[in-house]
Amino acid sequence: MHKAYFFDMDGTLFDSMPHHAEAWERVMARHGFRFTQEDCYINEGRTGESVISEAFRMSGATDVSLSEVQAIYREKTELFHSMGEVQPIAGVQEVLGFLKERGASLWIVTGSGQQTLFDVLDHHFPGIFARERMITAFDVTHGKPDPEPYLKAWERSGYPKEECCVVENAPLGLRSGKAAGLFSIGVNTGPLRDELLWEAGADEVFHDMPALLEWLKSRSAR
Ligand code: CA
Repeated sequence: MHKAYFFDMDGTLFDSMPHHAEAWERVMARHGFRFTQEDCYINEGRTGESVISEAFRMSGATDVSLSEVQAIYREKTELFHSMGEVQPIAGVQEVLGFLKERGASLWIVTGSGQQTLFDVLDHHFPGIFARERMITAFDVTHGKPDPEPYLKAWERSGYPKEECCVVENAPLGLRSGKAAGLFSIGVNTGPLRDELLWEAGADEVFHDMPALLEWLKSRSAR
C-alpha cells in the first residue's frame, strides 16, 4: 500500500462537476462563447483562467480583455455558488476512513482557489485533512495538466515517489500526476469514456469509490 495519497477535489471528493459544467456553459454562452458541458469535462482540472483561455482559443477569439476574463470568472463563481451546496462523492468518506486508519498521509491537490475551502472540507471530512496538506491554486504557477501541483505535494510530503499515489477523476489531472512521476488512479465519476482516462496514463481506472475501496483492501491484505 502507498503511504501518501494525493486527492483531487472536484469530481473526486465532491460531486461538484455537474454544477461546474452547467455554470461554465451558461456564463460562456452569455458572453457569446460556445463551451459545452462536455468541453468542461474535457478541460476539468485547469484553473478558472485557464478554462477561459481554452474557450477563447476554441472560438478563435483573439482580442479579449483581462476585464472580460475576470468578469466571466466572477459570474461563473457566483452562479456556481447559487446552485446550492455540493455533497461528497458517494463512498469517498469510507475510502478516506480506511486510509486514515492505516496511517496514510492524506492530501488535497486542487486547481480551485476558494478561500472558504477548508471550512467546507472540515464540515464533510472532519479530522481528515489539514491546511498544511493542501495544494491549491494559490500554491502553484502552472496548474494541471502541468506536473507542478503534484510535484509540490510530493516534495512537501517528504515521501519517496513510489510511496505516493494520486487519486483523480479527470484526464488532465491524471496527466499531471503521471508527468510528476507518480502512480495515478482514475475514478471515473463523470460522463467521459474510460478510454480518455487510460489514454491520460492512468495506472488503474475504477467506476466508483466502492470499487477503489475494494482494490485498496485487496492490496493491504497482501
Ligand atoms: Ca477533478
